[in-house]
Amino acid sequence: MASDCLFCRIVAGEIPSDQVYADDDVIAFRDIAPKAPVHVLVIPRRHLDSIADLGLDDASLAAALVNAANEVARREGVVESGYRVVTNVGSDAGQSVGHLHLHVLAGRRMAWPPG
Ligand code: 5GP
Ligand code: ZN
Repeated sequence: MASDCLFCRIVAGEIPSDQVYADDDVIAFRDIAPKAPVHVLVIPRRHLDSIADLGLDDASLAAALVNAANEVARREGVVESGYRVVTNVGSDAGQSVGHLHLHVLAGRRMAWPPG
């Protein structure tokens, strides 16, 4: 774990979070500043800076992240109404926490394209 990484500290339980899903590879918890009625972050337990660090060697982790995002949508009851899965990489995309995370957003009509 990177001790200076906010999300590693959430994985370690050093910082509390409102967890909605967990398995051996990933955890999911509610965003502290939700941008939609449902706003959950899905993160790997292992530190990776962003999705740019995910490659063919990480196929099972990539699948675990997608599986968790879908499971969050099921648990939140938004599969029928729809949901958006977004991940930001780097400064132009607005990434503000340097530990890979998928945003699962739902519960309102989303605009497209994103800003
Ligand atoms: P990014 O901007 O990197 O794509 O997304 C980072 C997200 O992490 C933001 O939506 C922000 O609200 C959320 N966030 C930042 N600090 C915390 C925290 O301490 N706890 C939780 N649950 N979410 C956080
Ligand atoms: Zn980390």
